[in-house]
Amino acid sequence: MKIVKTIPELQKARKELQGSVGFVPTMGALHHGHVSLIQKSLNENEHTIVSIFVNPTQFLAHEDLSKYPRKPEADIKICELAGIAILFMPDVDTMYCPLEPTLLAPSSKAYILEGFSRPGHFDGVLRVVLKLFNLTKPTRAYFGKKDAQQLYLIQNMVKTLFLDLEIIPCEIIREDDGLALSSRNVYLNHEQRKQALLLSKSLKIATRCVMAGGRDVEPIKAEMLSTLSSLHVEYVEILNRDFDTLSSIEIGNSIILVCAKVGTTRLIDNLWI
Ligand code: AMP
Repeated sequence: MKIVKTIPELQKARKELQGSVGFVPTMGALHHGHVSLIQKSLNENEHTIVSIFVNPTQFLAHEDLSKYPRKPEADIKICELAGIAILFMPDVDTMYCPLEPTLLAPSSKAYILEGFSRPGHFDGVLRVVLKLFNLTKPTRAYFGKKDAQQLYLIQNMVKTLFLDLEIIPCEIIREDDGLALSSRNVYLNHEQRKQALLLSKSLKIATRCVMAGGRDVEPIKAEMLSTLSSLHVEYVEILNRDFDTLSSIEIGNSIILVCAKVGTTRLIDNLWI
C-alpha cells in the first residue's frame, strides 16, 4: 500500500494502476461501516484507493472541526490489512487553493433535512468529492446509504456534470443492537449510547407499521416521534428516493429518515423501503 499526501505523488501512483479502480472517500476514524465499503470496492475492482480527509468546507463555522475524531495510525493499519493500493491523506492546503470556482449543490435538495440545520454543508461535500474524483479517476466510487442525502446529491452531481464513473450505494452497517455505526458514536457515554438506540428503534417501529399495511406518512411519523420523545429530534421524514415529499409510502421508492441529538451529538439514521 502506498500512503500519499501530495497531489503529484497521488497522480504518479494513480498512473501506475492498470484496470478498474474503486474509490472510497472517508473522513477517517475508520469503523466497520467504512471497512464494508472498502471490502466491496476490493471485491469489485482490480485496485482500491481510500482517502482520509476531514474536509473543512463541509463543517459550519460553529461546528468544531478540530474535535472531529482522528485516528491516523489505526486507519493506516486497517487499510494496510485490507489490502488497498493507495491511501491518500492530504492536508487542507493540498486540497484547497485561493481563487477556486464555486460549486453549489441544488438548493431544493441540499437545504432540507441535513442541509436545513447545516446550510452549505453539501456544497462543501460536493466540492471536495469532485476534486477527489478528478484526482483518483475511479471506475466506481462507494458511498454508504447511511448518508442518504449525500449519496443522492453525489449521484445527482455525477449525472448532471456527466462524470464518467459509477456510484455504488452500500448498505448501512449496524451494531448487533441496531445502532448504525458512525465515527461520532465515540462521543456517546454509556447512558447516551442506550438513548441513541431509539433512532433505530423508531425505524423498526415504522417498518412494523408498513408491514401491517400502513402507507400514510403522517401516522407513521407520529409513531416515530413518540418513540423519540425523550430526545431532541431534528427531523423525521418519509420521502421518495428523489427526496420529494410523499403522502403515501411507495414500497421500493421511499426512505424514512431520522435525525436527533443525544446530548450534544447529532445522530442520523434511515431505512430504505
Ligand atoms: P465519513 O467518514 O463519515 O465521511 O463516511 C465515509 C463513508 O462511509 C460515507 O460514504 C458514509 O456514508 C459511509 N458510512 C459511514 N457510516 C456507515 C455505516 N454505518 N454503514 C455504511 N456506510 C457508512
